[in-house]
Amino acid sequence: MDFLNTIDRYESEVRSYVRSFPTVFEKARGSWMYDIDGNAYLDFFAGASVLNYGHNHPELKRALIDYLEADNITHSLDMASVARAEFLKAFNDIILEPRGMNHRIQFPGPTGTNAVESALKIARKAKGRPGVIAFTNAFHGMTLGALSVTGNQFKRDGAGVPLSHTDSMPYDSYFGGDVDTIDYLDKLLTDGGSGVGHPAAVIVETIQAEGGVNVASGEWLQRLQDVCRRHDMLFMIDDIQTGNGRTGRFFSFEEYDLDPDVVTVSKSISGYGLPLALVLVKPEFDIWEPGEHNGTFRGFNPAMITAKRALELFWSDQRFSREVEAKGERMRRFLEGLTERYPQARGCVRGRGMMQAVEFAHKELAGAISKRAFAHNLVIETAGPDDETLKLLPPLTTEEKDLERGLEIIEQALIEAMGEFGLSTAEAAGQ
Ligand SMILES: *Cc1c(COP(=O)(O)O)cnc(C)c1O
Repeated sequence: MDFLNTIDRYESEVRSYVRSFPTVFEKARGSWMYDIDGNAYLDFFAGASVLNYGHNHPELKRALIDYLEADNITHSLDMASVARAEFLKAFNDIILEPRGMNHRIQFPGPTGTNAVESALKIARKAKGRPGVIAFTNAFHGMTLGALSVTGNQFKRDGAGVPLSHTDSMPYDSYFGGDVDTIDYLDKLLTDGGSGVGHPAAVIVETIQAEGGVNVASGEWLQRLQDVCRRHDMLFMIDDIQTGNGRTGRFFSFEEYDLDPDVVTVSKSISGYGLPLALVLVKPEFDIWEPGEHNGTFRGFNPAMITAKRALELFWSDQRFSREVEAKGERMRRFLEGLTERYPQARGCVRGRGMMQAVEFAHKELAGAISKRAFAHNLVIETAGPDDETLKLLPPLTTEEKDLERGLEIIEQALIEAMGEFGLSTAEAAGQ
């Protein structure tokens, strides 16, 4: 069978990544994916940060196989199960309690957008007001509520109905360095003539991963939290892509000493690519009636088995965090060196931990690099409103030699892409 042709023939036009990475994947292990012709691809995308611990991690796989083999329960709606109780205890003991968090754990449906929908409902119910503030270039998911707090016009237009009861405010540095966007927000919330009214909550990403790897400063986030407190609004962090160690610590907001009322978690929480999502909510805002929000696949038992094992393996001490920080710094130094070596590319480096990116002034460069990198067997994606940013998201477990290999391919692909656009690759003077 010609697999690609079959997919083209039968699958909806909506398919997208198969178009960027046109081969047929069959197997994967760690940071490597293998296609049906036996070609090996180094994965610097990691399922958009779903695979922070790599593909098919042997210990997570063992826990999953053992669980299934013994006829343990797979589906149980939200009835009590051993897997559920053990995951809740592990998440509390390994993640929440050591960080001084006493949040309750809600299982919405198993995707990120489900978690965001729950968060929006919680805020509206808790405050009895419909408005929610989101930010320029935010991405929170594809269902109507999540789309209403997402910036991208192409995605918003897909809704086909007005997306209402939200306001989009400028993110950190949206106008460059000179405009203080927290002062701007605070003024609009304070001024009875602003037209913004009194929203129930703010939802924010600490790094806008899909929106172009825009990094908010710790100070900006702290001041945003302060604005929420002063205006009686919930402070909600969407940590779906930035959490689970991507930026170094388990949560992306830890190093800034923030105290969000609601946190959404998904993507890498199962550790194995199995769907699972969480909403963490402070007890005083856990105002649900039983069953008021539900979902057939909430709290999928096999995903909770691998999730618990991943917490034990990677988060019982600080070692993994330190490794991620060291590799993140290596990626950062490499990209900064790259933009210095090839000034004509006019690249600007951004990121934290192992989410690092380069935005190019020439908007088509990032896409061309991704394409050429794939020809050299590296899977890497772009981000931002015009796909102008090359985004590096290797599994956090990537071995150093593989990390170096991927960085070399990026440089090679950059040189080729610059050639395609007639940009000089002559090195900067004095180098
Ligand atoms: C991926 C993502 C979502 C949506 O998750 P899905 O599982 O695709 O519904 C929401 N917020 C952020 C920040 C994400 O990266």
